[in-house]
Amino acid sequence: MKNNCVFCAIEAGEIPCFKIYEDDRVLAFLDINPFSKGHTLVIPKTHHKDMLEVPAELGTAVFAAIQKVAAAVLEATGAQGFNVMQNNRLAAGQTVFHIHWHIIPRFEGDGLDMWAQGKYADGAAMQQMAAKVASCL
Ligand code: 5GP
Ligand code: ZN
Repeated sequence: MKNNCVFCAIEAGEIPCFKIYEDDRVLAFLDINPFSKGHTLVIPKTHHKDMLEVPAELGTAVFAAIQKVAAAVLEATGAQGFNVMQNNRLAAGQTVFHIHWHIIPRFEGDGLDMWAQGKYADGAAMQQMAAKVASCL
């Protein structure tokens, strides 16, 4: 299997998938374990591990595919909304290390709420964090 990667194998046709869309750079297919019916994955056809490794110029093709596929998923499922989710690295829940974007159909009251949000101690702590991140750019 190329790159020892299940998504490269799907892209190569070595593993079957339920394909939704493809163009020369991007492939979209149903997630095998959906958060909700119609949950779709969008992948670049080339192998890149995560957001820090994917060439930024691929973003335009991915963005366009997400828009196209998400609109179709909404229409097909009757969902009222959708999440676009993208996990980077093990600590963030990434399990397939070929970058992919999840399109997850959402319905009012479906109970799929993802994370509890927290608070900074105060404005100074928030300013300190913003400055620290900006200094790493
Ligand atoms: P991650 O947790 O890395 O963000 O998401 C990986 C996703 O890939 C999971 O939602 C999982 O269900 C899906 N997945 C893993 N293996 C396969 C497969 O062989 N075929 C399909 N269609 N989806 C897969
Ligand atoms: Zn791959």
